[in-house]
Amino acid sequence: MCLDLDRFKSINDTLGHVAGDSLLATVAERLTECVWETDTVARIGGDEFVIIISAIEHAEDLNKIAEKILAAISKPLALNGQEIFITASIGIAIYPEDGTDVQGLLKNADLAMYKAKDQGRDTFQYFSQEMNVQTLEHLILENSLRRALERNEFVIFYQPQMDLKSGRLVGMEALIRWQHPDLGLLPPSRFIPMAEETGLILPIGEWALQTACAKNRAWMDAGFMPLRVAVNLCGIQFRQKKFIELIEAVLKKTGLAPSQLELELTESMLMSKAEESTTVLHKLKEMGVSLAIDDFGTGYSSLSYLKNFPINRVKIDRSFIRDVPNNPDDTAIVSAIIAMAHNLNLKVTAEGVENHSQLEFLSTRNCNEIQGYLLSSPLPEAEFTRFLRGGMMIQE
Ligand code: C2E
Ligand code: CA
Ligand code: CA
Repeated sequence: MCLDLDRFKSINDTLGHVAGDSLLATVAERLTECVWETDTVARIGGDEFVIIISAIEHAEDLNKIAEKILAAISKPLALNGQEIFITASIGIAIYPEDGTDVQGLLKNADLAMYKAKDQGRDTFQYFSQEMNVQTLEHLILENSLRRALERNEFVIFYQPQMDLKSGRLVGMEALIRWQHPDLGLLPPSRFIPMAEETGLILPIGEWALQTACAKNRAWMDAGFMPLRVAVNLCGIQFRQKKFIELIEAVLKKTGLAPSQLELELTESMLMSKAEESTTVLHKLKEMGVSLAIDDFGTGYSSLSYLKNFPINRVKIDRSFIRDVPNNPDDTAIVSAIIAMAHNLNLKVTAEGVENHSQLEFLSTRNCNEIQGYLLSSPLPEAEFTRFLRGGMMIQE
């Protein structure tokens, strides 16, 4: 098994190398506890470990071991008096099917590990022969991603957001797509993880921010009601040194009022660098930029950060909205999130609203805004302009 810690670099950068070392030591201890004495645990570099399971009777036992390891690693640990969460990705190669020598086995376990990262991390993957083909595709895609920006291949789609009380359009979320010359229109899931890994997310994210702000201002100049545009951010962008300066520069350049920009952050972004995040968020709030927590409910859902961070809004993840009002658990969760957010003076947007019964339910719970296919799927610029001209309409 090749095991690689997820986002270890950001912990190292944030908490320092001493803390990083102590985290590695803890991981090593936890790994050793998960396997037998006849097995081998080795650290082969950075945050990469290799585990050799020497004798196994049933292949399924490997599943259990891998699950046990992932569970052991994801237990919270204390570093510098802070609670840290870390996860790992594991790739598994089996002798002799997947390789008959050390190099071959390691290479294939490594490939499988990358696959596990691709699948969203905190998981494990077995090597398979197709992975070689997939890796090649990945490489090709990564190469074309490097040139996509200069070739103008990215586009922003806009998805409307409606205020439930007034029924008016109040804003939109900017969602990036990649118009790939060979593969067609690619959703963010196909390239954002890669952009994060390679660091390309910084220029791409900056372009998205700039484009969305400029477009929002242009719609206003064209005579439409002033709207708010929400832009998604990922951790690396938010943690970059000159982030505040970047936001200031984009607002200045585009002439957009800060209140017409909302930044969507995820829970994990805030957790990973709590103290510095607070400073950055306070600065943004002072500037008048609106701050939203995206996909609320899917992460740690720590209530303390809602209290400690100057957030304006939570966006309830669409997985909770999908089965309301029929599923009593989801109904209870959504009601509770809305009530809690309101008590903390936060606004609530429900994502993924697709039908009228969801809308009615959310209305009775006083949810502030909705977004989803019921209003419209994300639209290219020109179509969004048409949508604006047509006014706010929900088809019965
Ligand atoms: P997200 O922020 O949760 O975005 C909402 C996603 O839900 C969008 O997928 C949207 O098309 C989809 N969606 C909207 N309404 C509905 C609905 O009624 N039902 C269902 N089933 N789905 C709905 P999309 O555009 O593929 O975006 C996926 C994710 O990519 C976004 O999730 C966001 O996290 C990320 N992303 C998008 N644009 C950017 C960007 O410019 N920068 C960064 N860093 N991430 C981005
Ligand atoms: Ca979002
Ligand atoms: Ca979301």
